[in-house]
Amino acid sequence: MGKPVLERRELGSTGLKLSCVGFGCAPLGNVFGDVSPDEALASVRRALDLGINFFDTSPYYGATLSEKVLGDCFHKLGVSRNNIVVSTKCGRYADGFDFSAERVTRSIDESLARLRLDFVDILQCHDIEFGSLDQIVNETIPALQKLKAAGKIRFIGITGLPLDIFTYVLDRVPPGSVDVILSYCHYGINDSTLMDLIPYLKSVGVGAISASPLAMGLLTDSGPPDWHPASNELMYACRVASLHCKAKGKNISKLSLQYSLRNKDISTVLVGMNSVAQSNSAVTVNAKLASSLTIAEQSCWCFREFTSGITSILKKVKTIFPWCLNVV
Ligand code: NAD
Repeated sequence: MGKPVLERRELGSTGLKLSCVGFGCAPLGNVFGDVSPDEALASVRRALDLGINFFDTSPYYGATLSEKVLGDCFHKLGVSRNNIVVSTKCGRYADGFDFSAERVTRSIDESLARLRLDFVDILQCHDIEFGSLDQIVNETIPALQKLKAAGKIRFIGITGLPLDIFTYVLDRVPPGSVDVILSYCHYGINDSTLMDLIPYLKSVGVGAISASPLAMGLLTDSGPPDWHPASNELMYACRVASLHCKAKGKNISKLSLQYSLRNKDISTVLVGMNSVAQSNSAVTVNAKLASSLTIAEQSCWCFREFTSGITSILKKVKTIFPWCLNVV
């Protein structure tokens, strides 16, 4: 098989072209279990070889470990700065949230030192629903504008789980001052509500990044980490779904990725990859999509199989956990 061609997609009005599969760096902070420096290096190398150019991290992941490991990997691999798009975050730290202008201004210098970079392409306010949205509008975004003017960041983003936080902020900041939103767990096989927001984002020229297509490990054969917020019922439903896919000769993670990657309104899908095998897997899914309509059709079939297989369980849990709503 030839080298897979990883599609690049425009990110809103930024002019950035991101690989449609992005490398989520939370696992490099040992968030999903220990990842050795060698394994981290091998997975970043493999990701680059496969055409992934977008890397997303945060000082919060592994209490700064993720940024440090990523910086070390880029350094050891001698990566050319022009060939990568790097995003990190501010406002969320191991010791809590702080979206003050003073903290986020200090934060970027700390992040750049760990990443061994002169600038990041995107700096995002991390999980803004845990702070004051009015502070984000009136204090944090203006502070980030100054960092942009100083050349330390190229674009500004906001991240979080509830979808209405994005419209709240975007409706209140000057047009063009926020370039991108990062939403997670809202575009996968069990929840596609991010789609409701896309027309609005397009109308204001803001790019969409979707993270956690595997619902932070829920849609994997090995299951989610201990800290996962899903209810026992949803975890059980996903376990049943994984076994159902297995019985059909399919892998639930590949199926979920395939579903998320098909939507071109989403510039990039951030997958948490902590091994060479997972980098390979995410890109192979995309390569198949790019090269074969049959595979896409097969995926639809699998998706229907999947949903009908767990519908009865999800009906019971849909009121308990919002991620289930779109399946039934
Ligand atoms: P994810 O849904 O990508 O799940 C990651 C888990 O799935 C890990 O345990 C990983 O080992 C496993 N996995 C990955 N590929 C696999 C495969 N092919 N087969 C089996 N298992 C596989 O969740 P995530 O890591 O939370 O999200 C991806 C990235 O998105 C993060 O690393 C982060 O960069 C970003 N993110 C940002 C926010 C935010 O800003 N608020 C929130 C969530 C995620």
